[in-house]
Amino acid sequence: MTDSLDTAELAARFRAVFGAAPDGIWQAPGRVNLIGEHTDYNDGFVLPFAIDKAARVAVRIRPDSTVRMLSTFGNQGITTADTASLHRKRAKGWTKYPLGVIWALQQRGLAVPGVDLLVDSDVPRGAGLSSSHAIECAVISALNDLTGAGLGAEDMVLATQQAENGFVGAPTGIMDQSASLRAVAGHAVFLDCRDQSIRLIPFDARGAGLVLLAIDTRVSHSHADGGYASRRQSCELGADVLGVGALRDVGLDDLTEAGGLLDPETFRRVRHVVTENDRVLRTVELLETAGPGAIGPLLDASHASMRDDFEISCAELDLAVDTARAAGAIGARMTGGGFGGAAIALVPVGSEPRVRDAVAAAFARAGYAAPDIFSVRPAAGAIRLA
Ligand code: ADP
Ligand code: MG
Repeated sequence: MTDSLDTAELAARFRAVFGAAPDGIWQAPGRVNLIGEHTDYNDGFVLPFAIDKAARVAVRIRPDSTVRMLSTFGNQGITTADTASLHRKRAKGWTKYPLGVIWALQQRGLAVPGVDLLVDSDVPRGAGLSSSHAIECAVISALNDLTGAGLGAEDMVLATQQAENGFVGAPTGIMDQSASLRAVAGHAVFLDCRDQSIRLIPFDARGAGLVLLAIDTRVSHSHADGGYASRRQSCELGADVLGVGALRDVGLDDLTEAGGLLDPETFRRVRHVVTENDRVLRTVELLETAGPGAIGPLLDASHASMRDDFEISCAELDLAVDTARAAGAIGARMTGGGFGGAAIALVPVGSEPRVRDAVAAAFARAGYAAPDIFSVRPAAGAIRLA
């Protein structure tokens, strides 16, 4: 992980690279999902929060249609494109995220001018903490302000989803950008993915004597890969066979009957989604009535469901979760789309060093790359910094 530049440093770097000051600087956070995995595209419930790690983007409008993009990460140099001829197949590497946002705005009939754009981020990449959405959300916030497009947060959520689905080529839902664009510090975002309504749920782990650790396994996932798409297909198949618009409409009580109608694998996929939706609702209820100290068993059950029914965990994630729990975590689960990325562990403050050491030692013993372990707090959503 790199240290990020402060606002003045980012502006100075922008000036040095592009020869003029930026028009402004915008910031959008990554997120962790507390609970509710693969429920978003099933019209279900999720409970993410924005984390205190974010992408910042300095942007200047250009008088022509050229887009020049640079990231402080990597040594790739400036990438150039033209807003008049964006094509997903020509967009390379990370530049598909800002270009996808421009494309999605164009799909909405908005004229987007050329821009110079410098990205700096301390969200770990490919860890399931949504470094890609952090970039997209920072860019769309910038372009929304600079062009006077006047999109509200919900429109920006849908536009970034369109960028992901139609340009990046990842069939993702609306959870990540909803957290990044709509979060409020100190709260988790209880999102109903059917109607996009949110309720902010106070999540004060510290106040409950707990810390939420993110454990980046360093196993890089990729949403565009087959595993994610095949899970979506299973969910669609399950909904079709069960005669519902989306798996959101299948209740716990319906599972017995579903078992007789679905092939065993599709049934397990469906059971994960149905029970996970229920776990989100119970987590919200517990947070509102008893506080963070009560949700550990639900985190554990969520992990077991992803490991056994949805089959999206991996050996590193299982080791992180099991070890954290054995060392004192009151609950732990993989977070994000799966097949790698990060786990979260809810840990009593006094046990934090023991959990960190135990997970690092277990990874070393297993011959895995050293995990990156850090605490995360619920932070504010996207804002203009300068
Ligand atoms: P996640 O969103 O969970 O971190 P993704 O695979 O969706 O994982 O996104 C990771 C990708 O986002 C990286 O491969 C890279 O293309 C892009 N990215 C993230 N952070 C940066 C950065 N600071 N500079 C350039 N590209 C970045
Ligand atoms: Mg991503």
